[in-house]
Amino acid sequence: MKKYDVIIIGAGVCGIYMLYRLLQQGLKVLVLDKAEGPGGTWYWNRYPGARFDSESYTYGYSFSEELLQEWDWSEHFAAQPETLRYLNHVVDKFDLRDYMTFGAHVQSARFIEADNQWSVTLESGESFQSTFLCTAIGMLSAATPPRIPGIESFRGESFHTYYWPKEPVDLKGKKVAVIGTGATGVQVIGAIAEEVGELTVFQRRPNWCAPLHNSKITAEEMAEIKASYDEIFRQCESTPNGFLHGPDRRELSEVPQDEKLAYWEDLYNSPGFGVWLGNFRDVLMDPAANAEFSEFIAGKILSRVKDPVTAEKLIPKDHGFGTRRVPLETRYYEAYNLEHVHLVDINETPIECIDETGIQTSAAHFDVDVIIFATGFDAITGAFDRIDIEGAGGLKLRDKWQDGPITYLGIQVAGFPNLFTLAGPQGASVATNFPPAIETAVEWTSDFIEQLVKEGKNRVEAEEAAEGAWVEHVKSFYDMSLLANTKSWFTGYNSNVEGHDKLRYMVYLGGSPTYREKLADVASSGYKGFVT
Ligand code: NAP
Repeated sequence: MKKYDVIIIGAGVCGIYMLYRLLQQGLKVLVLDKAEGPGGTWYWNRYPGARFDSESYTYGYSFSEELLQEWDWSEHFAAQPETLRYLNHVVDKFDLRDYMTFGAHVQSARFIEADNQWSVTLESGESFQSTFLCTAIGMLSAATPPRIPGIESFRGESFHTYYWPKEPVDLKGKKVAVIGTGATGVQVIGAIAEEVGELTVFQRRPNWCAPLHNSKITAEEMAEIKASYDEIFRQCESTPNGFLHGPDRRELSEVPQDEKLAYWEDLYNSPGFGVWLGNFRDVLMDPAANAEFSEFIAGKILSRVKDPVTAEKLIPKDHGFGTRRVPLETRYYEAYNLEHVHLVDINETPIECIDETGIQTSAAHFDVDVIIFATGFDAITGAFDRIDIEGAGGLKLRDKWQDGPITYLGIQVAGFPNLFTLAGPQGASVATNFPPAIETAVEWTSDFIEQLVKEGKNRVEAEEAAEGAWVEHVKSFYDMSLLANTKSWFTGYNSNVEGHDKLRYMVYLGGSPTYREKLADVASSGYKGFVT
């Protein structure tokens, strides 16, 4: 049996940086990933239009000045191939590849109490042991195809967006169906609408979308960005969500009507998440303010979509703007102005089944060549549930989390000694710009492991009382936010997963600065809430 100080599951943004940090400490580390290369989310999501909604220069790692200065981003919001190239560059630059094993599908992880060791077993049957186990398995990595009768019988091509093939898929002139209109569906639809022969979008609940306004980065802009990285990262550090965009501290009622409208026009016409996260602070907290801004965005949808009936269907009625994750789009609404693009509201005419040739709704049969499932993920805890994780005394993580996650700091779980759930539930990474929050979690956890190793301690576990207090703290932010009242993956809902039909406290809504303070406080107090 091969033994390590630390095993990291996952070679994405989080796993790569954790490996780098632990190797710097001289530890013996192994990374396991079921993909054939590093990149995590950026390895898998190869669907047309895939890109992040973070400004590229806030998505890269900030830990190495040399890396920052040598890497040029080509667009303000880089597409998947570029981000995957970037992550591979990081892996090679810091000689990390030799510590990574690919094609390694972790099936189970069991804590051996007598030895204070984790035993990790792959689907192939191969096992490894380590003192510490870190999960860096992504929060959106357990894809959920819809539960539609007959789905297996379709004879054309069909893909969940997460498993989009590596080899190019030719959609030119084909009859294509897209099911799902979240951030992924909205990107796919905008990207393929022009080239396909016919596109039918099956929409359950519309989302409030806003324009991304992506553009190329010129050589001069890149030079300016490189000269301002300190400022850029300071700005991200100061905002609740780790993006460049922080809320306007004024309340809606304080701002004269014409000034407010001019501000909103400006936000709508500016790149990135400003329209969501740079808005007046009460837009996401006060129902009346939220309704007013939602009305403004509804007006934008009505002005961009020519057919008023279609436009009306694209306007959400069950939730206000920004209370679910806002998809940023490129020519999404304009796609519906094309003759060959059709919107099917499956609330009016539900999908009854999928058959060999297409999709049957209660009103019609749609013959299609390709079905794209943009139906999302068993978010945040799904990837944990898919590994049989057994802690002390035979306790299974999926049993402990049956009704939702329970963690201390989003980093450890009582009953699971030596397990660190990096970028896991109830931590700050989930609801924020992912890489900056990841850096926080990775640096804190690797420092903690360094100290444990230095002190010769081979067992650490969160106390149940500390865990209970953390869960209450996490819950308290849900009481303040309109996000908590809306069904989405942030609140644990997924119609494609048995039992995921009630509120779960999945994410830390308190913002990155507060989260960092909490972590710093725990570390400076000698890691209170943990027993070693
Ligand atoms: P999602 O937001 O969960 O959206 C899934 C979509 O599929 C929803 O429209 C959902 O409808 C629909 N759906 C699910 N099951 C269905 C069924 N059985 N029948 C019909 N429709 C069904 O998933 P996602 O779009 O993949 O996005 C997930 C997250 O990934 C995003 O919120 C974002 O954080 C991240 N992401 C980021 C980017 C980016 O940075 N630009 C791009 C893509 C994804 P309901 O709304 O009715 O449930």
